[in-house]
Amino acid sequence: MLSSQIGKKLAKIATCKILFDKQALDLYSVDASSYVVRPSAIAFPKNEKDIIKIVKFASRHKISVTPRGAGTGLVGGDLGTGIILDMRHFDKIKIGRGFVQTGSGLSKGELDDTLRKHGRFFGPNPSIGPFCTVGGMIGTNASGSHSLKYGSTIDNLLQVRIVTSKGNIVTLPKKDNTTKKILRVMKLQSQKQFPCVSKNSCGYRIDKVTAHSNVQKIMAGSEGTLGIITSAKLKTLLLPKQNVLIIIAYKTLKDAVIDVPEILKLGPSAVEIIDHNIIQHIVYKIPNGTKCLLFVEFDNRISKKRIKVQQISSGKIILSTTKYSQISQWWTYRNSALSYSLKSISKQEIVSSIIEDATVPVHRLPLLLDLVKYLTSQYPMRVIIYGHAGNGNLHIRPILKKKDERLIKKIALEFFSAVISIGGTITGEHGDGLARSGFVKLQYGSDTYSVFKKVKQFFDPANTLNPGKKVIL
Ligand SMILES: Cc1cc2nc3c(=O)[nH]c(=O)nc-3n(C[C@H](O)[C@H](O)[C@H](O)COP(=O)(O)OP(=O)(O)OC[C@H]3O[C@@H](n4cnc5c(N)ncnc54)[C@H](O)[C@@H]3O)c2cc1C
Repeated sequence: MLSSQIGKKLAKIATCKILFDKQALDLYSVDASSYVVRPSAIAFPKNEKDIIKIVKFASRHKISVTPRGAGTGLVGGDLGTGIILDMRHFDKIKIGRGFVQTGSGLSKGELDDTLRKHGRFFGPNPSIGPFCTVGGMIGTNASGSHSLKYGSTIDNLLQVRIVTSKGNIVTLPKKDNTTKKILRVMKLQSQKQFPCVSKNSCGYRIDKVTAHSNVQKIMAGSEGTLGIITSAKLKTLLLPKQNVLIIIAYKTLKDAVIDVPEILKLGPSAVEIIDHNIIQHIVYKIPNGTKCLLFVEFDNRISKKRIKVQQISSGKIILSTTKYSQISQWWTYRNSALSYSLKSISKQEIVSSIIEDATVPVHRLPLLLDLVKYLTSQYPMRVIIYGHAGNGNLHIRPILKKKDERLIKKIALEFFSAVISIGGTITGEHGDGLARSGFVKLQYGSDTYSVFKKVKQFFDPANTLNPGKKVIL
């Protein structure tokens, strides 16, 4: 079917709002990545029946269906040429004991506000803050500064409800034949192919699916390719009574990352890093010659730990605070790192969306920085670095002149091969999407990649759901 006919035909059979005017198609052609992909129609389902109708129509006519949350993803995972499912109406929320049941379109802001009223919170906290959705966090296996202590979305996902590409409703985990079949496919892979890192959003996380009780985890990081998530049960935690935030200034990034493994022994809730490109946007008296700041936060036994950090750190502590207003101001600086870095890019330059989320075992961070130094000596590029140092997850953003754009793929291949060889993953939290799906095989090798294909074929035999992401069939 011609793409221009899809909207009209869909509008005839659908039971929800469908848009296919130029303005809507332009709007949904982009997300927070640099990719542009024009869809054919956008649907706004209000319930599972609406989704079932749409996926059945799409399968029948071989049209792709791509679920979308808030469009804050950084790898183009929510862009597609067929039908985009805007999940905004799936926004119910119900608090339980130690968990919350939410619709997949619920915003993180609504989730946080509701949980706060009950003295609770959801561990993973992407720097985008309130704007992303539950479905998008599950779709990318998102994490954030506090994932150091509280894990990524995959570690906090208790249950999911999905609409499959055949239009069935499945709740996972469930002890039934479907789960048995899923487990049988998972068992084909070797755990050895999975990097030993605390965060990983590359490929399908079949390493976390080991029994009936955790089969729901296959949906974390699946980027809408295995099913449309309609609701989820998420683990919640008691809000800490008090936090302390310690800001440490260093003369080099390497000095800072060398300190990280020792700091981790104290059990911080966050250890984050920013380089001089970001520091220049901070309004605070920062010592001359500072090239890097480490943000170290604790949320228990804070006085004792504050003293210990002083003893361990080779940098200069420039702030140690328990004041809520000061702590949130500094987290605003840290969470603005991406927008600060984009400000420093001139019109003649481009920033790579392929390299930006590598994660290595924490003690190998100095090696990762050596690798970056080597690449900047070999290629005409500069880099901006910030991220989740405590997880070994650095957002290294290479910036090149537009005329050198063709080098990006070559640099990425060299960079990713080295990251993998030091036991890392090419993406710790943002996922594969259009940026990195072509590198998933490099990460895991042919055998595991062929298991990923079997996973995809099991859930979505007709390749209707977000094709071209995660695995390329
Ligand atoms: C400034 C900035 C800072 C960021 N900081 C972080 C960070 O610290 N940590 C982090 O992990 N990420 C970060 N991100 C990336 C992004 O915000 C997260 O990945 C977020 O979870 C995406 O949510 P979303 O609702 O916008 O999803 P979208 O971008 O709309 O979608 C993301 C993926 O999930 C899939 N998806 C969405 N809804 C569903 C559903 N209902 N069922 C199945 N699949 C679905 C989509 O198809 C897509 O593949 C940042 C982004 C920006 C712009």
